[in-house]
Amino acid sequence: MFDHPDFDDHEGIHVFSDPKSGLRAIIAVHNTNRGPGAGGTRLWSYADPRDAVTDALRLSKAMSYKNAMAGLDLGGGKAVILRPDVEFDRTALFEAYGRAVEAVGGRYITAEDVGVSPDDMRVIKTQTDFVAGLDDGPAASGDPSPVTAEGVYRGIKVAVHHALGVASLKGIRVAVQGLGHVGYGLCQHLHEAGAQLIVTDINQAVLEKAEAEFGASLVEPSGIQAVEADVYAPCALGGSISKDTLPDIKASIIAGAANNQLASPDMGEACRARGILYVPDYVLNAGGIINVAAEVSGTYDPKWVKSKLDELEVTLKTIFAEAAKQGVSTDSVANEMAKERLNA
Ligand code: NAD
Repeated sequence: MFDHPDFDDHEGIHVFSDPKSGLRAIIAVHNTNRGPGAGGTRLWSYADPRDAVTDALRLSKAMSYKNAMAGLDLGGGKAVILRPDVEFDRTALFEAYGRAVEAVGGRYITAEDVGVSPDDMRVIKTQTDFVAGLDDGPAASGDPSPVTAEGVYRGIKVAVHHALGVASLKGIRVAVQGLGHVGYGLCQHLHEAGAQLIVTDINQAVLEKAEAEFGASLVEPSGIQAVEADVYAPCALGGSISKDTLPDIKASIIAGAANNQLASPDMGEACRARGILYVPDYVLNAGGIINVAAEVSGTYDPKWVKSKLDELEVTLKTIFAEAAKQGVSTDSVANEMAKERLNA
């Protein structure tokens, strides 16, 4: 573990196994300087369990940076559940997982991530109080995805203004990869703002819906990066900006919801060198955790959530201006800012 390339002095890596329910999970707590580690739980089929470890290490660190950049009193944590490859009882699995969260003793607070829903949060809640993203309860914040989508939409507007010098998204071509909870909501905002959508997903039904509802053009998953667009919005899984894909990207802005979009740390500088404005993912996609933080505070205040989204826009403007001034990548400016905030 200590030699793992993604190990970053994480405070704790907790591994859980419950053969009865089929649970195999990793809860990674990266840094609690600002508060308990908070971040979603991902349920995913990993070809190799080592990929799950890598995901937990990288995602939990990104949560520390994300929460710090969003100005939240929360640290960084993230969990992955290895999806059982045989049929399983979902309730039993999430009960066992709830006990695992409880065992970490409040150093980690969970919510939804890919493959996990508010229904699962309700099951977790039967075992632990260290859970948010609930549908009911005094401060329930529900599915964080709509707020994530709103934050990404706002950030795209800021990026378009900075890079293209226009205040409106009318006619701006946005290529969206992944029309899930966040991607589809983002498309709704973009469509209302008059943007032109080019979309892809591995799920044909959702593509047809986007075509009917937004007049979106559909492309194959493998072709999304190469389309003529102003903005490329990765909203599926991480790693979509790599040395293999970057040469194909024609958009002058990369701004999407996916976590860990850069396949390797040098990709931030590679984007800058190609004249692409990369909007650091963990800054842009903080809407969901802002929404969760409102619930964790004990009183859900929609005005506070809006004010945090306003702050997110200001932070992005600062990052773009600093990167331009210093002649460095937006990614390195954001990382330095995040580290300063974590160590403050
Ligand atoms: P989701 O599972 O609802 O949606 C993902 C979508 O991507 C699905 O429709 C899936 O079919 C599609 N997809 C998967 N592989 C694909 C491929 N190769 N090409 C095209 N489409 C593909 O997940 P989500 O909640 O919308 O999250 C999307 C991304 O945003 C994830 O990386 C997640 O970690 C990140 N994120 C989500 C939130 C949130 O509030 N949900 C917050 C911050 C970050």
